[in-house]
Amino acid sequence: MGTLIRNARIITQDTERRILQADILIGKDRIERIGTGLPKRGVDEVIDASGKIAFPGLVNAHTHIAMSLFRGYGEGLPLKRWLEEKIWPAEEKLEEEDIYWGTLLGAIEMIRSGTTCFSDMYMLGLARMADAAGEIGIRAVISQGLFDAAKHRTPEAEMAKMEKIANELAKTNPRIKAAVGAHAVYSCSEDLLRLAKEFASYHNLPFHIHVGETREEVFSCLESRKMRPVEYLESIGAADSGSIFAHMGWVTKREISIAGKCGVNVVHCPISNLKLATGGICPVAEFMEAGANVALGTDGPASNNSQDMIETMKIALLLQSHKYWDAQKMSPAQIWDCATINGARALGFDSGSIEEGKLADIVLVDAKAANLLPLHNDLRSIAYSLNPSNVTDVMINGKFVLREKKITLVDEELVLEKAADVAHEVVSR
Ligand SMILES: [Zn+2]
Repeated sequence: MGTLIRNARIITQDTERRILQADILIGKDRIERIGTGLPKRGVDEVIDASGKIAFPGLVNAHTHIAMSLFRGYGEGLPLKRWLEEKIWPAEEKLEEEDIYWGTLLGAIEMIRSGTTCFSDMYMLGLARMADAAGEIGIRAVISQGLFDAAKHRTPEAEMAKMEKIANELAKTNPRIKAAVGAHAVYSCSEDLLRLAKEFASYHNLPFHIHVGETREEVFSCLESRKMRPVEYLESIGAADSGSIFAHMGWVTKREISIAGKCGVNVVHCPISNLKLATGGICPVAEFMEAGANVALGTDGPASNNSQDMIETMKIALLLQSHKYWDAQKMSPAQIWDCATINGARALGFDSGSIEEGKLADIVLVDAKAANLLPLHNDLRSIAYSLNPSNVTDVMINGKFVLREKKITLVDEELVLEKAADVAHEVVSR
């Protein structure tokens, strides 16, 4: 039983952050051994990975995957108009079944670009999102985006809805987990934020929220709560190592130090911030120095156009270099940490590195490619040069979900056709 991947160049992400030329033996769902000349006795499948790079599956720590149905919709509008005139009215028309197809579409894009796990926040269709993730084989953390800043919405009703779905998700499969999502400080009352965080802490679930995305959000928080967003969330007990703060582009030195001291998980979504022209750049290196755990995310496909974490890793790196006028502001190991093991840590999965005993989420890329050669053993160079077309195989939980560039568990052609039809139908409803 199991798979033997022979002779790969492995970006391990183990504690030494090494690159090794070795074999990887995978058992049912975990990596059993790493070494050279491992015996193939009793193994179901042997894969010759000579000339290939193996790296831990990338973790997309903040997205809204079903919004792949809205890719390119309302293109070019500023954030507020884009949401109010295009996205929110279109989302009003969404039905649960649409989420299933949007999730499959997004997951195919993710797998083809080396992502093995995503963390989502959305307001409907979460059970169908879990079905889709289950079928295609990807790992997922799914949260209801709670908000009560609207007529007829109360903290109690929001919590009841969320608890129901969290219980349902807990019964699905071990690859799918629930998180507690609160949309943002400006869209949630203090009662709702407190209830949501308490529920998350009690059930040991991640608490996922948008924080410090725009300058407008910071000023509204100063006005309504008399504190900046991170200060406020700390004051109500919502800033700790179980919390995932997405964006964090508009933060002060004091907020950076709070996030570090509390061990908050910060998710930098560079492409979404650039596309929506939010102006703030998440100070990744400063957060890391302060002690926060920093991961990366694409944000939804409507505010990014892609779910490609390879591209996200590169843009994050470029943006940090540019922000600090320092091409070495982030070390190569830190870049890969943000895209892999830090995301896994934020979401509570025992994955994110190629180490014995870890869950087997592994990506193989063909290094004999024009955009990668000549290959140096340099993590920074690989992060800059990779692209999704290099990805040949993706294993999640010990199973290939992409094998020799073919999606294995769903009919890709059917999904692409159906998702595109559904997307056009939704906006014309
Ligand atoms: Zn978001």
